[in-house]
Amino acid sequence: MALQAPEGLKRFLPRLAHDLRHLGYEVIISGDPCYGACDLDLRARDRADVLVHIGHTPVDNTKQVIYELWPVDGDLTVISDVIPRLNGRRVGLVTTIQHIHLLPRVAELIRNAGIEPVIAEPSPRTPCPGQVLGCSFNAARKTGTDEIIFLGTGLFHPIGIQLATRARVFACDPITGRIEEPDADRLLRVRFGLIQKAQNAESFGIIVSSKTGQCRSELADYLCTLSDKAYRIMLGEVSPDQLLNLGFPCYVNTACPRLAYDDQVRFSVPVLTPCEFEILCGVRKFETYEVDEIS
Ligand code: SF4
Repeated sequence: MALQAPEGLKRFLPRLAHDLRHLGYEVIISGDPCYGACDLDLRARDRADVLVHIGHTPVDNTKQVIYELWPVDGDLTVISDVIPRLNGRRVGLVTTIQHIHLLPRVAELIRNAGIEPVIAEPSPRTPCPGQVLGCSFNAARKTGTDEIIFLGTGLFHPIGIQLATRARVFACDPITGRIEEPDADRLLRVRFGLIQKAQNAESFGIIVSSKTGQCRSELADYLCTLSDKAYRIMLGEVSPDQLLNLGFPCYVNTACPRLAYDDQVRFSVPVLTPCEFEILCGVRKFETYEVDEIS
């Protein structure tokens, strides 16, 4: 049996391997970095009968993989605190996989306050009702509500939800109890500046991921038709050093969307999203900006 977990859960793997060995299993631990179910360690799986991937739900139908969730509880006082700030009679509810088990209780709290909670049905990449990923905000879009509550940590998902839906978003953190309303316009200003900066680049490296659930080669092929200065680059891990060594003055990312949005500060040159490259090439207007998602 091969075991794989994201960075935050890796430290639990030795104990798990120990317990499994006592149950009679031979265990291989995948030690490479892992950020999601898009990033299955197939080499470890091929050395075992099955890969047990911890902490995520499937994003595709890769065989011989068992997905084990790792639920994280939290304090739902944050939901009682956000209710007085809601204006409408319906509110969309979304969360990440760690907190998905809390969503029915959140819905009950909202319903008890006389507001209709709306939780969208699953999508192929997000198999739990109300689940969002950093690369899929379908569950938010499908609520069709003007206000959306995101239960979880950080502002990346709430900003993505706001860009994908244009709804008013409340980011409710069940660990810290903080409530924030993200400002997607600030991100748009930064992205506009990056497009401007990349305007005169003499070449573009189109990043194509070799990871199972991040490979968008058809999109990369399409992007290459937009400019004769574009070249495809196949990469597993995308690091600042690798991009520096490759030497392109601008990159376009078709791998995990978070790379361009979250990690731009780590890169010394612009790393654009596919939509931003379309804007740079003049086939799309900035007013029709779309957040990058993997469908
Ligand atoms: S592509 Fe990125 S956001 Fe999507 S599941 Fe993978 S790591 Fe998460």
